[in-house]
Amino acid sequence: MRIEEELKLDYTDVLFRPKRSTLSSRKDVDLNRTYKFKYSNNEWSGIPIMAANMDGVGELGVAEKMSEFNMITCLTKQHDIKKLKQYKKIKSIYKNIALSIGIKKEDFDNLDKLLKEFNFIKFICIDVANGYSERFSKFIKSVRDKYPTKTIIAGNVVTADMTQELVLNGADIVKVGIGPGSVCTTRIQTGVGYPQLSAVMECADAAHGLGAHIIADGGCTCPGDVAKGFGGGADFVMLGGMLAGHDEGRGKVVKSNGSKFIEFYGSSSLEANKKHYGGLSDYRSSEGRIVRVKYRGKIKDTISNILGGIRSSCTYVGAPSLKQLSKCTTFVRVSNQFNDTFLK
Ligand code: 5GP
Repeated sequence: MRIEEELKLDYTDVLFRPKRSTLSSRKDVDLNRTYKFKYSNNEWSGIPIMAANMDGVGELGVAEKMSEFNMITCLTKQHDIKKLKQYKKIKSIYKNIALSIGIKKEDFDNLDKLLKEFNFIKFICIDVANGYSERFSKFIKSVRDKYPTKTIIAGNVVTADMTQELVLNGADIVKVGIGPGSVCTTRIQTGVGYPQLSAVMECADAAHGLGAHIIADGGCTCPGDVAKGFGGGADFVMLGGMLAGHDEGRGKVVKSNGSKFIEFYGSSSLEANKKHYGGLSDYRSSEGRIVRVKYRGKIKDTISNILGGIRSSCTYVGAPSLKQLSKCTTFVRVSNQFNDTFLK
C-alpha cells in the first residue's frame, strides 16, 4: 500500500484570484474556440460546453438548443437509426452532436450501421465508467482504424498516464472524471475517485503535450465551476445535472406539494439499467442515483446564465477570450467557497 501525499483539489477548494484588467465589459469576452483534432484533422468552432450523454440531457431536443449556441451534445447510447431518422432536423445540428457507444461487439456493429446512414456525423463518444481496462484501449484502436476521419472522444479516466494511453490508441479527446458527477455513487460504492480540478489539470497537461484535447466531465454545480474547469486547462466542459430538469430533456415530470420536478438519474443507476437493459446483472451494483430536479423551464435561459457567469469570470481575471482564461488563471486555495446563510 502507498499513499500519495500531494494535495489534490476539487472545484470547491479554489477560487479565481481577480486581476487588474483592461476589459471594459463582459459582453466583449469571446467564448468561442476553434479546435483542430489530432487524428481526425477535423476543425470545430463553437462554445466548448457539452451536454452529457445521460437520459434527459443527451437528447435531440437539448441538442437542438445547444446547437443554436454552437455547443455540442453527446446523444445517449439509445439514439439508434430509428430515433435519428424520425428527427427531421438532424442535418442542421450534425456538426454539434456525438454518437455514444459502449465497448461491446454490438456497439461496434451499431456504430457501423449508424455511420452508414448518417455519415456526416463527425463525433463518436466511446464511453465507459472505467477507462482503465486494456480492452477499452483496444476498442478505441479498432474504432480509430475503421474511422480515421471521425473525431473520437473516449473516457473516463482521471490520470495523466491513462490520458496518454487513450490518446496513443487513437482518441482525439479524452473525457476526464471518475466519481464527481451529481448523480454518481461510485465514490460511495467503490471508494474510487480523484478530485476533479486536479484530474482536469493533470490530464490536460498530458493531452496537450500530445496535441490532443480533454473534456472536464462532471462535478460542475454552478457557472463558476464551469469557469474553473476551463481555468484549470479543460478544452471542453461537460454538464449533466446543470442541464437537467428542462422542457427539452423530456424527463418524467413529478408533482409534489404543488411544485413540479423532473426525474434525473445516473447512467449506471438501477433506473437506467431497468429502463434500457431490463435490470442489473447479479454481479453488479448500481453506481448512480435517481433524484428529482426542480423543474427549470427552457434550457436556453440556463445556458445564458452559465455563459454570463463564464464571461464574468474572464472579465475578473483579465481574459479577453475563453482561450486566454487558463493563462490568466491563478487559483487561490480556500476553505470556504461562498456564504450560504440563506440557503440552509
Ligand atoms: P454532472 O454534470 O451531473 O455532475 O456529471 C455528469 C457526468 O456524470 C456524466 O457525464 C458521466 O460522466 C457521469 N455519470 C452519469 N451517470 C453516472 C452514473 O450513474 N454513475 C457514475 N459513476 N457517473 C455517472
